[in-house]
Amino acid sequence: MGRDDRARRTGDDQPSGRPGRPESLVSAQDVEDADDILFAHPPRVVTRWLCGCGEDYPCPDVRFARLVRAVHATDTGVDDSR
Ligand SMILES: [Zn+2]
Repeated sequence: MGRDDRARRTGDDQPSGRPGRPESLVSAQDVEDADDILFAHPPRVVTRWLCGCGEDYPCPDVRFARLVRAVHATDTGVDDSR
């Protein structure tokens, strides 16, 4: 009765002719090329540090500041509070 009608409806919901898979446009050569491309272009995880100013870390400012501090530290030596 009503049940039968429902089942038919859900089946109708799925479009039979789905676009987006143009298999006829892909030749065997393309598939071969795709294999080569995927082999030559593996994904890489790159850890990227970003500075607070938006540049890649260390940005020129940070490099300069580090240099200054390094020079300063060697100049005054370790703290001679002891
Ligand atoms: Zn910066």
